Amino acid sequence: MSGNETRLQAIDQITNSRGIPVSKPEPLSATWGADVFNLATMEQMLSKSAFKSMKKTMQTGEPLDPATAEVVAAAMKEWAVGKGAKFFSHIFYPMTNASAEKHDAFIVTNSDGNAISEFSGSLLIKGEPDGSSFPNGSIRMTNAARGYTAWDPTSPAYIMQTENGATLTIPSVFMSWTGEALDKKIPLLRSNSAMNTAAQKVLSLMGETEIATLNSSCGAEQEYFLVDANFANARPDLLLAGRTLFGAPSAKGQQFDDHYFGAIPQRVQVFMQDFEETLYRLGIPAKTHHNEVAPGQFEIAPYFEAANVAADHQQLLMTVLKNSAKKHGFLCLLHEKPFAGINGSGKHVNWSVGNATQGNLLDPGDTPHDNLNFLLFCGAVIRGVHQFGPLLRAAIATASNDHRLGANEAPPAIMSVYLGDQLEKLFKDIKEGNLTPSKSGGEMDLGLSQILNFKRDPGDRNRTSPFAFTGNRFEFRAVGSGQSVSGPLVVMNTMLADSLNWIAEKLEAHLSGGASQSDAVIAVLKELITEHGNAVFGGDGYSSEWHSKAVSDHGLKNIPTTADALPFLRDAAVKKLFETTGVLTPAELESRFEVYSEQYILAIEVEAKLVVEMAKTMVLPAATTYLSDLATAAAGMADMEIVLDNSAAKTVAEETNAMMAAVAKLSAAIEKEDFDSTEAHMQYMANDIRGLMDEVRSHADALEGEVADDLWPLPKYREMLFIK
Ligand code: ADP
Ligand code: MG
Repeated sequence: MSGNETRLQAIDQITNSRGIPVSKPEPLSATWGADVFNLATMEQMLSKSAFKSMKKTMQTGEPLDPATAEVVAAAMKEWAVGKGAKFFSHIFYPMTNASAEKHDAFIVTNSDGNAISEFSGSLLIKGEPDGSSFPNGSIRMTNAARGYTAWDPTSPAYIMQTENGATLTIPSVFMSWTGEALDKKIPLLRSNSAMNTAAQKVLSLMGETEIATLNSSCGAEQEYFLVDANFANARPDLLLAGRTLFGAPSAKGQQFDDHYFGAIPQRVQVFMQDFEETLYRLGIPAKTHHNEVAPGQFEIAPYFEAANVAADHQQLLMTVLKNSAKKHGFLCLLHEKPFAGINGSGKHVNWSVGNATQGNLLDPGDTPHDNLNFLLFCGAVIRGVHQFGPLLRAAIATASNDHRLGANEAPPAIMSVYLGDQLEKLFKDIKEGNLTPSKSGGEMDLGLSQILNFKRDPGDRNRTSPFAFTGNRFEFRAVGSGQSVSGPLVVMNTMLADSLNWIAEKLEAHLSGGASQSDAVIAVLKELITEHGNAVFGGDGYSSEWHSKAVSDHGLKNIPTTADALPFLRDAAVKKLFETTGVLTPAELESRFEVYSEQYILAIEVEAKLVVEMAKTMVLPAATTYLSDLATAAAGMADMEIVLDNSAAKTVAEETNAMMAAVAKLSAAIEKEDFDSTEAHMQYMANDIRGLMDEVRSHADALEGEVADDLWPLPKYREMLFIK
C-alpha cells in the first residue's frame, strides 16, 4: 500500500468505526481497590499483631521484622492466587521515565513432578534482576551486572489484570550490588526522610511536643493527547518519537478557545470512564477529568496522596492510560509538544508537607500573619526555589519538555515563586518590619439573591508561574507530561530539607539569645526574605519584560534548554545539597547527570534520523509525483496551445530542492562523533541538529500546502486534531 493510501484508508476506517463495546460500570463499592493488597485486605488476612506492624511501617516507615514479612508474603500470595494470579513481579523505577518489571511464576515443582505455587518472605523482600541493561551512569561496569530489587512495604502491592491472566505486582526499590540507588524511588524515600528530620527540628524549636512523622504529598494533574490509532499508525514520527516531526498548521487550531472544559467527545468519555474504572480497581483515586486547551487534549487528576505512593500511582496511571487508549482505538501521546503551534502537555505537580499532629504545614489558615509554622515552611520553600532554581529546572529537563517551556503556553524556563497578593504583601511587610494582619478575600456577593454568597480565596491564581502557591500547597507547573514525578519531588523535598535546616540553625541562635518565639521567627524570616525574596514574582511570567527583568533585576537564571540545564547537576552547591541531606552521594548524582545527558542526546538523534528518513521516503516521493503530474498536465495543455501557469510547479521544485539540501546537511551533521565533553555534545544537539531539523521541516511543511491532497502520505493536523 502506498503512503497516501494508508492515510486515505485511515480516514475511511474512522468514518465507519462504531466504537468498541464496553460493559456497564460497576458501583464504586465493588471496584474501589479491588485489585490492591491494601490495609483493609490485610486486616482481614493477617493476624492482629502482623497487621499492626504492617500498618505502622506503612504510616511511619518503621522497619518490619523478617518474621512479619514472612507472614505478609504468605497472605499476599494467598490473596493473589485467589484472584487468579500465577505470576509475581517486583516493579521498579529505573532512571528512565518508565517503569520496569520482571515476572516470575509462583510455580515450583517437587520430586514427584507435581507443581505447586510458592512465595516466601525472602522472595517478597528481595529480587535479583540482571541489572546490566538499565541505565546506571558510570556506577557499574557492564560486566558487574548484579542489581537488586527490594520490596517497599509503604506502597501497596496490586494485581495487574490482562485478558487471560493476572500478575501480583510489588512496588520495589532498585540498587546496585554495591548499594547505590539505580532508581527514582530510593532518592524519593531518602528526600522525604531528610525533609522529616529537618521539619522535626524546626517544629520542636517552635515548642511542638508531639510531632508525627512528616510526609510530602503529591497530586499530579496529567495532560495528554489522543490521536486515532488509524492516523497514528500512518505516522512513523508519532509512533517512534511521540510527536509530529512534520505537519503544516491546520486553518483551524485552538484559536476559538472552545476546547478547554468543552463538552467531552462521547467516544473520549467512553474511554475515560473505562480507564478510570481500571484506576479505581488499582486504588488510584481518579477525581477530575476534562478537555484541555488544545483540540484532542485532555486531563486527568487523581486526588493527592503521600508522595511515594502518588509517584508509584502516577507511573501506573501512565501505563493504564496508554493501554486503555489503545483498547479504544487511540494512541495516547504523553509527549510535551506533539503538534507544533498547538499547546503542549504538562504535568502539574501539587505538593505539600504535613503530618497527623500539625496537619498541612502549607495551609495558611484564616490568619496567616500569626500562623508562624506556616510562615516558616512557606519561607523555606521560597528560599529553596531561590537557592536551587537551576536544579528545579534540571529536574524537568528533557528533550521533549524543552519544546514547551517558555513558549507562551507553559511556564518560562526561569524558576520563580508566585505567592498571591495576600502572602506577597505579608512577606513584604516582614521584610520592612511592619507586619500587619492580613486581609482575607472577603465574601463573593454577586448581588443575585438566588446565588448563594461564598468566601472568596485571599489570592488569585497565576498560570504563568512555574511554581505557584495555590491556597494550601505549591504547584510545580513546569513538569513534563511524560515525566516521572519522582525527580521533581526529590528536588522539592530536598531543597525544603536544606531550608528547614538553615531555619532551625538561625532560630536556635535567636532563641538561645533570649528572643521570644515570634520575634525569633520574624527575625529569621526577615533575613530569609531579604536574601531570597528575589525569587518571588506575581506578574505575567510569559511576558518578554519578565524574561529580561528576571535576569537583570532579580538575578534569576533563564535556562532554555536541557543542554543548559543538566550541567547544573554538577554544580558544587547541588552536590553539597544532596550529600549533606543524604539523598544522593556524589557518585549517584554524577550518574544521573550522565544518564539524563545520554537520554537527551539519544532522543534528538532518533528524531534527526527519522526526519531524514521521512523526508526522503515520504515527502520527496509525494512532491516529485505531484511535479510529474503538473509536468504532464502542462505538456498536455501545451499540445492544446493552452498556457498553464507554472508558478505552483516552480514553488514545489524550489521547496523540494531546498528540503533535500537541508536533508543532506542534517545527514552529514548526524555523523559527527568527536566531542570534547558531554556538555559540548548536548549543545551540538540543542543548536546544530535541532536547527537543521527545523530547516528540513519548514520546507516539508511548505510542500504540504502545495502538493495535491490525495498524494500526501502523512495524516494532516486538521485530520488528527479533531476527534470524531
Ligand atoms: P486545578 O486544575 O484547579 O489546579 P485540579 O483539581 O485539576 O485543580 O487538581 C488539583 C490537584 O491538587 C489534585 O490532584 C488535588 O488532589 C491536589 N491537591 C489538593 N490539595 C493538595 C495538597 N494539600 N497537597 C498536594 N496536593 C493537593
Ligand atoms: Mg487542573
